[in-house]
Amino acid sequence: MSGDPEAPGFLWEGIPDSRVKGPLRSRTTFTGPGGKLFERVYCANCGGDGGAILASWSPHVFYLCDPCAQTHGNLPLPQLPDELVRGL
Ligand SMILES: [Zn+2]
Repeated sequence: MSGDPEAPGFLWEGIPDSRVKGPLRSRTTFTGPGGKLFERVYCANCGGDGGAILASWSPHVFYLCDPCAQTHGNLPLPQLPDELVRGL
């Protein structure tokens, strides 16, 4: 990583987003409780299901499933518990 650590996006510079972008994005979004727009998240390595988040929640999302994290290790970034992301 390089650049200004205070700049927006510094944490995820060079890290892929785990949501679908472009014309296929609408296939991975749905209206959830309260009429809010949710979008699916996929493992950045294997494409496995990573649950869903509020579309407006974050400008960038990176998700690595447990098997891939155990195989390749986690990135040194803040992590959210599965209960929060999956609503378990
Ligand atoms: Zn994976």
